[in-house]
Amino acid sequence: MVQSAEGALNEVHEMLHRANELAVKAANGTLSDEDRAMVDAEVQQIKREIDNTAKNTVFNEIRLFPDDGLSPKAGSVLASYDYEVTFDFANGSVAVNQQANGVSSRPGVQVNSGSALADKIANQYIPNAVQQIFDAFPSFATAQGTTEIKMALNVKFIDGPGNTLALAGYTYSPSGGKPKTMYINVDAADFKDADIGSGSDKEKQLESTIAHELMHTVMQYNLTDGMSGRNGEKYPTWFVEGTAQLAGGGFPTNWNNELLYYADKLADEDDTSQDANIAKYLQKYTMQGRPYGHGYLGAAYIGYLANKQNGGSADVTGANIAGGMDLIFGDLIKGKKLDQAIKDRTGKSISEINGLFSSGNGDLTEFARKLAFNSKDGAGSVIVSQAAGGLGAGGAGKPIIGSGAGSGAFTIDPSQVNVDFSGGSANVAIQVGSEAGQHIDFKLYQMNTQALGLADMNVNTVEDASDAINFVKEAIINVSSVRSHYGAVQNRLEHTIANLDNVVENTTAAESRIRDTDMAKEMVAHANSQVLLQAGQSMLAQANRSSEIILGLLG
Ligand SMILES: [Zn+2]
Repeated sequence: MVQSAEGALNEVHEMLHRANELAVKAANGTLSDEDRAMVDAEVQQIKREIDNTAKNTVFNEIRLFPDDGLSPKAGSVLASYDYEVTFDFANGSVAVNQQANGVSSRPGVQVNSGSALADKIANQYIPNAVQQIFDAFPSFATAQGTTEIKMALNVKFIDGPGNTLALAGYTYSPSGGKPKTMYINVDAADFKDADIGSGSDKEKQLESTIAHELMHTVMQYNLTDGMSGRNGEKYPTWFVEGTAQLAGGGFPTNWNNELLYYADKLADEDDTSQDANIAKYLQKYTMQGRPYGHGYLGAAYIGYLANKQNGGSADVTGANIAGGMDLIFGDLIKGKKLDQAIKDRTGKSISEINGLFSSGNGDLTEFARKLAFNSKDGAGSVIVSQAAGGLGAGGAGKPIIGSGAGSGAFTIDPSQVNVDFSGGSANVAIQVGSEAGQHIDFKLYQMNTQALGLADMNVNTVEDASDAINFVKEAIINVSSVRSHYGAVQNRLEHTIANLDNVVENTTAAESRIRDTDMAKEMVAHANSQVLLQAGQSMLAQANRSSEIILGLLG
């Protein structure tokens, strides 16, 4: 079974190498458009073959690369937003912890969980990110008042490397009102204790992710109805994610790499030489179609317009964007509908703003150019003061989340910190012995063009072809990391089968005793944890290497 997977991955690897050759060829400016269309036809054919391979690689009627498998992405990731509503019929009351005195008297909560990752998130990232969010968006600080929320922090397996990095969750009482309990889950497959203090890209991505999730948390608490959709209005995803990206930054998770690529070519923020490319990029997607990328750009532009209409300066800075968006947040807190608030504050409805994207509008293009230029080498987060690096924070030596006292408005309850790095649910079980329970579980990955980030790849223009080169390089890295996972499973499988022969012999020799203690099952459980451990280690080594390679590509 593992060999079938290995064979298919080999084929995908070879197809990607061919796609790379074709993309390099098409990136050559001397080709005519017709030549390039011919090359593109072969690229599209390769994509179809990759999808067919992913679909048709089966063993005993089990698809080895199922559409609901884990994401193979190791380098290009996104944070995702989730909230759940559970009705607690036993207890209708809203649990909040009110403190009579003001903000300054909020006691700090010190978490000492034994995990460097959990401690750093609880003791520094959360209180400081909340304070920075309150400073940037004072409407939330006012709405929050002296209320303190104690949250849970769970570091545990969510969906493997890539995809969801963390999520913020909530529970509600049947009587409505504010969230009853709130928690932050961080994917133990994406972040490790070893990342803390490393100064690595992973650590910066963690800061960005936590700031993003805390923005969800603060908004969820203070804009309850629109966030949960329980009172006639539910905010669209582009607004929910785009505003969270205002805090975390729209650049660290690779959603606007193309914009940074053009910004890198600019002499200064007023250099218009790349405007045609930037306008084309804006036209590629809608805000709703790409909430973490174009949703972020749209939210930032709306903040910028609102600030200008309110008599503020037209400089593209984090403070100006945040100041304008805070006016809209203030309106939403008072109960105004989203579209109305945006229209009142910017003079434009949401659909008119979408129209600016689809037409590659000049003012929006200029804004996107300045935003990207001023965020170069950084995150593009608007909760960082100019003194601390502004939009460019997140670059070398300029953290997105500062240190210091922070806010006690949202803190992690030390008794609700759960850390489990041991992995998650397995997707498939291989029977390795003759008795029930003698099996090894391991995880299956997706391997289609969508999961590999190649769905939109084409080489019809020089720009598309140079994008394609980067997409293919990243896909090759991701296929390699999946190969190392299946390879590790195969190694352990061979050892385990050898060991199981011994177990089966011993079983026959002392059958009744073993039946009592269920020993065979315990042996398999032990082997199982070894498989997951080793697979995890080789994935980690691969993931670390991948981020270095991707860093090299982006310069
Ligand atoms: Zn989110």
